[in-house]
Amino acid sequence: ATPMSIMVGVGRGAQAGVLIRNAEALERMEKVDTLVIDKTGTLTEGKPKVVAIATASGFDEAELLRLAAGVERASEHPLAHAIVTAASDRSLDLAPVDGFEAPTGKGATGRVAGRSVVIGNVDYLASLGIDTAPLADIAEHHRADGATVVSVGIDGRFAGLIAIADPVKASTPDALRALAAEGLRVIMLTGDNRTTAQAVARKLGIADVEAEVLPDQKSAVVEKLRKQGRIVAMAGDGVNDAPALAAADVGIAMGTGTDVAMESAGITLLKGDLGGIVRARKLSQATMRNIR
Ligand code: ADP
Ligand code: MG
Repeated sequence: ATPMSIMVGVGRGAQAGVLIRNAEALERMEKVDTLVIDKTGTLTEGKPKVVAIATASGFDEAELLRLAAGVERASEHPLAHAIVTAASDRSLDLAPVDGFEAPTGKGATGRVAGRSVVIGNVDYLASLGIDTAPLADIAEHHRADGATVVSVGIDGRFAGLIAIADPVKASTPDALRALAAEGLRVIMLTGDNRTTAQAVARKLGIADVEAEVLPDQKSAVVEKLRKQGRIVAMAGDGVNDAPALAAADVGIAMGTGTDVAMESAGITLLKGDLGGIVRARKLSQATMRNIR
């Protein structure tokens, strides 16, 4: 492409909140036939809120939330923010955490007020010998509503669960409709639980879902699609999305997300509005038409 038409495209994009960092991204966007899209913070607002707490027998709801929030205060995960906010809404006093660790895509752990606390998904707790089965029915009920369920273990015992819901962005349904009309295949890619992911996908009319994908496997999904001959755009916001954004033909980061994601992407949507993907495609078509 000639530098002049690229510059015009980049300028028009910037006016619409679509920041194009490299010419290749603008050139390739019109050829994209597959959009891989992260759920949390990309399709959804990324501002999750605690909607329910259930305790296992012998545990108190306020105590569970207080200890869980004590650990999560040290985490930057959106789910962690939701838990800390719920605790401060209830004016619970949080004790400091010792020995904090947060294995990506799994959860967080540490010692709070002399107790050993773990929070995260079912597999993570299982790997520590904590069985979440006692509240499995309640957990599944919340997941079927599209909520994310995190389990809490205290001193090696299952203490209960916290259901957290993250509303879909207002701009998401229209953007997905426009992309479908362009003939793009849309695939949801998430580290979240399968039932939760499918509930959200169903609401949005997304048929393809890759759930329970660990951060280091997200880029493998993109690479597999490319090997199948697809031209892939990947949209995401998190640290865990960065390798997949870099592996895609076009990486699209949310301006509302992490810096690492933006540094790994050719395009950034300033306000995280997914309508920007449709706009980027139109700009790409117009730019390439000018050049041909
Ligand atoms: P996504 O791909 O949807 O952005 P992640 O890969 O960040 O999600 O996380 C996957 C799952 O790991 C979450 O749904 C949650 O169950 C668990 N998890 C990760 N970090 C935390 C945390 N700090 N606290 C509780 N659970 C967590
Ligand atoms: Mg995300």
